[in-house]
Amino acid sequence: FTGQVALDGPSGTGKSSVARAVAARLGAAYLDTGAMYRAATVAVLDAGVDPEDAEAVAAAVAAARIEVGTAAGTELVQVDDVDVAVRIRGPEVTRAVSAVSAVPSVRRRLVDQQRALVAAADAVVVEGRDIGTVVLPGATLKVYLTAAPEARAQRRAAQLGLSTPDEIAELAADLRRRDEYDSSRADSPLRPAEDAVVVDSTHLDREGVVDRVVELALS
Ligand code: C5P
Repeated sequence: FTGQVALDGPSGTGKSSVARAVAARLGAAYLDTGAMYRAATVAVLDAGVDPEDAEAVAAAVAAARIEVGTAAGTELVQVDDVDVAVRIRGPEVTRAVSAVSAVPSVRRRLVDQQRALVAAADAVVVEGRDIGTVVLPGATLKVYLTAAPEARAQRRAAQLGLSTPDEIAELAADLRRRDEYDSSRADSPLRPAEDAVVVDSTHLDREGVVDRVVELALS
């Protein structure tokens, strides 16, 4: 396989583990654009800036050096040479990342960086929200991964070690809130590209989804 696979969709669809597995199967590089927005959020928090203050957020992100690796099997995420791979998954960053990623100049900066990283690879799987619509409108294959909110909440709960119906209902409500926030933006990244193949993972296990995407990429 040579070319780009754009893999978009909301959180809790198993998108990250699918993207990594597809990249490994295709012998392709892998770019997690969510990790870049999360790293930008670390820069904002460390600058002591209010994530809702768009101007200050833009300045803090412009002043930071954000680096992500694209070699399959590694997770390199750095802000100003400091490893933040673990920290970007924490609740503090997760709470603030939607506000940071809503700032247009932050998106422009990171989209430019994403395109440069993709241009350096013969084969790459790029995971995010706006890859097929904005970052790589000419991608070889565009997949939009969906799943019912309840299924997404179940997956998230398993990752976090939660299991009561109340906890799962709360996660489902939180996912809906984050989707709404993300899709209320002007560029509405939470919408499939017109030429994307929609894959619903509600009733498929990870291997089933990976097989389907690999089959599409090789066809
Ligand atoms: O995929 P992940 O959950 O790590 O993404 C974190 C957040 O980054 C999303 O909720 C969204 O606000 C933002 N994001 C984005 N555009 C992307 C990838 C992520 O706005 N391409």
